[in-house]
Amino acid sequence: MFQKDYELNEEDKLLLQKIVDGDIAFRKIEEFTDPLTAVKLRRLAIQEFAKLEFEHIQNFSLDVETTTKKNIENMIGAVQIPLGVAGLLKVKGEYANAEYYIPLATTEGALVASVNRGCSAITKSGGANVRIFEDEMTRAPVFKLDSLDRAKKFYEWVKCPEIFEHMKEVAEKTTRFGKLLSVKPFVTGTYVYLRFSYDTKDAMGMNMVTIATDAISHLIEDEFGAHAISLSGNMCTDKKPASISTILGRGKTVVAEVTIPQEIVKETLKCTPESMFEVNYSKNLLGSARAGALGFNAHAANIIAAIYLACGQDAAHVVEGSTAITSMELTKYEEIHCSVTLPSLPVGTVGGGTGLGTQRDCLNILDVAGAGDIPGSNSRKFAEIVASAVLAGEISLIGAQAAGHLARAHAQLGRGKF
Ligand code: NAP
Repeated sequence: MFQKDYELNEEDKLLLQKIVDGDIAFRKIEEFTDPLTAVKLRRLAIQEFAKLEFEHIQNFSLDVETTTKKNIENMIGAVQIPLGVAGLLKVKGEYANAEYYIPLATTEGALVASVNRGCSAITKSGGANVRIFEDEMTRAPVFKLDSLDRAKKFYEWVKCPEIFEHMKEVAEKTTRFGKLLSVKPFVTGTYVYLRFSYDTKDAMGMNMVTIATDAISHLIEDEFGAHAISLSGNMCTDKKPASISTILGRGKTVVAEVTIPQEIVKETLKCTPESMFEVNYSKNLLGSARAGALGFNAHAANIIAAIYLACGQDAAHVVEGSTAITSMELTKYEEIHCSVTLPSLPVGTVGGGTGLGTQRDCLNILDVAGAGDIPGSNSRKFAEIVASAVLAGEISLIGAQAAGHLARAHAQLGRGKF
């Protein structure tokens, strides 16, 4: 049953009229009433504007009070995305060491089924072995110097160990958890970009590093007289595909691998190790190189997007997450060794959208909601699970293409033609 917007009292009717007439701006409605009523009045004003009656977007269980403070402005309701699970997926990481059901929020038919098949192949083969190699979040302000000589002096100045210690002290005063790890300068003409890297523990960390880097920028202005033109000079690089993030890493740098015996490839994926090798080589490696792609994979973005949406991650970070490399090699024992390398996987289990009710439920399925007992352990566990799920998705899709089943699966599961 759908919940309809209930009748308004006289006071709310008056308020709605003022909103519709443009006398009260959308962003100011909360100044006149409580957050829940504000959401309703804004929604009714949109109904009035668009001359329609909503049947769905008013139905949600979000806590409006906190959501409108932390996650959204001008809220009018919520959209729903179907949620499915794939698994069980056996993960053998340093933080995640169990079998998991993977929550996936998507509207793409066939995706959950595909990941599920990959999970089956991995779990039957003993599980995904997974390791994190780097774990740091970056922010890179750009400074304008008034001459090339000053730019050179500044470039050298930031590399002094005592200056770094001072910057670290200032940055870490802004957070209980963030730790400044390094600063790397880059120059372009008389502009100098400082790429600061932080350990942000269980937080994905973009707000944390932005606040900390702002404090460092003030220190630099006071002590060197260099002015930050922008707190982000795009060498961070946040939410844009960029070689710097794939080379140096951003968020977690994770590798997941599994070796699948020939019988399991035949039984579960309906193809052979040789045909998978050929598809991966020609498509993910040569095809991606020929296309000038940054992601050498089949559909890492699909799995990352679905987990991110389910688990309250910043959806725009799918951009970085999708720059993965999928590798498949034949072994001398007629198995296929498959791996995914994710150089730049921003994830968190505190902050951002992770506190929203449904998203927290999904993090709880993986037993990673909130802060870890040891700070950072939950976000690392989560990253290991995400990488293993990406591996499952890659194995399944490459298998489907090797078996020539791709179009059939999409006709059946994406268009409902059984
Ligand atoms: P946040 O919610 O702003 O900060 C995380 C909070 O959790 C901090 O207050 C931190 O404490 C606290 N915390 C508690 N336990 C922790 C633990 N174990 N490990 C780490 N922190 C812990 O989240 P964020 O990750 O920094 O930023 C994520 C948000 O930034 C998302 O909403 C994202 O969409 C947005 N974002 C912002 C920018 C930007 O430029 N600002 C860019 C992209 C995305 P402390 O206060 O002591 O650190």
